[in-house]
Amino acid sequence: MKSTAHAFKANANRALKDDQLQQALAKAKDGFVLKRAKAFEHYPEFERLREHGKRIKDHTLAHLDHYLERFEEQVKARGGHVHWAETEQEAREIIVGICRKHKARSVTKGKTMAGEEVSLNEAIEEAGIEAVETDLGEYIIQLAKEPPSHIIAPAVHKTRQQISELFDTHHHKGALKAKLREVPELVNEARGVLRSKFLASDVGITGANFLVAETGSMFLVTNEGNGDLTHTLPPVHIAIAGIEKLVPRMEDASALLRLLARSATGQDASCYTTMVTGPKREGDPDGPEEFHIVLLDNGRTRMLGNQFREMLRCIRCGACMNHCPVYSAIGGHAYGWVYPGPMGSVLTPMFVGLDGTKDLPNACTLNGRCQSVCPVKIPLPSLLRDLRQQQFEAGLVGKSTRWGLGIWGFFARRPGLYHWASGLGMRLLGRLGRRRGRFSSLPMAGAWTGSRDFPAPQGKTFHQLWKQRKESGQ
Ligand code: SF4
Repeated sequence: MKSTAHAFKANANRALKDDQLQQALAKAKDGFVLKRAKAFEHYPEFERLREHGKRIKDHTLAHLDHYLERFEEQVKARGGHVHWAETEQEAREIIVGICRKHKARSVTKGKTMAGEEVSLNEAIEEAGIEAVETDLGEYIIQLAKEPPSHIIAPAVHKTRQQISELFDTHHHKGALKAKLREVPELVNEARGVLRSKFLASDVGITGANFLVAETGSMFLVTNEGNGDLTHTLPPVHIAIAGIEKLVPRMEDASALLRLLARSATGQDASCYTTMVTGPKREGDPDGPEEFHIVLLDNGRTRMLGNQFREMLRCIRCGACMNHCPVYSAIGGHAYGWVYPGPMGSVLTPMFVGLDGTKDLPNACTLNGRCQSVCPVKIPLPSLLRDLRQQQFEAGLVGKSTRWGLGIWGFFARRPGLYHWASGLGMRLLGRLGRRRGRFSSLPMAGAWTGSRDFPAPQGKTFHQLWKQRKESGQ
């Protein structure tokens, strides 16, 4: 997918003025947050499980080469094929090559963020093969020709009315048929359309939530069962997954599954949690004749060796974006690439480059909610701060910001001077704003006063109050 992260500010402005998007976001926002909170309310071992999840991922990342080799051995021993894709281009070529070899005309797809990362649909369609998304959210945005706006709810930005219009245009094609209004009617219609696609599919392509080194298995988690129909009905199943999806043992996958479902949708377990181990064996009633797994690097090994390694713990639950005030205000498309929200603001600069993504690490209030809900304890705010530092060192920050930070640094290194100057500045602003109690414009604060007033300082500075408190022994 081509990145538009360089236009983040313009994208965000547009999103804030889009009434339908704001309506859809308002509806979705609290749902995820409340459901997650409820799921953990009666789960006292949550903190211990988070720590356990973090340890599993850290251990795997520290021995990733060993576990990848073990996984490959096990998949091959069970009759599967393993492909290594260093770049997105390689991943596309491998998958399209398998489809061509099998003379595929139609491919069904389960939701895969790695597939989005490598622009898989475009590559399949360029090869003259029909690619049909079967996750309902992905299906909706495929009809709308849009990228996903959330990693677990790709069409969260769409209202029911917009979906009704889309289905009317694509399913009824001008036939005199009443537009469907209710959710069950829309779901039933999509189910009917997709059923025929499942039955006609030559190749099924899915992602994978976890890969298990000891058995060569992969886990597929959905709430619609579309992943199961995608991998069992066609004669060929291809899975694509980032190399960080690996865990050593079955019980590790089981621990992470408990964290994933609760953090993502507030469920104890997803409706369909399927373990796939190789192709169909003798005596199996169903399953593909051929099983391929494409292990995608695409910059992950580079991250393994730098300070962003912790980001590879991510299990793609979406909790960080559900709790992010920036994501909640502008939705996912404003971030301009596959991964939105706080996790995207770290991953996109890693995958796309710092240069074209310089607003993303700054699209954060550093309130820390993302870190506190992350099931594998990724320190997202400090990773974002690290990226800001890298931008500064690479000279990617504008002159006024560099100047401002330079002046601030000068004072911050001289605490006595800092206290004196900030006290003086506050007193001056307090005097000037005494009459109205606020400023509607201030030099060098146009970005703030452009949308809200700046309150005039009153009383003492924080440092003065702190000193006073310490002296009074409070
Ligand atoms: S960074 Fe953490 S909270 Fe965000 S998607 Fe990844 S695992 Fe979930």
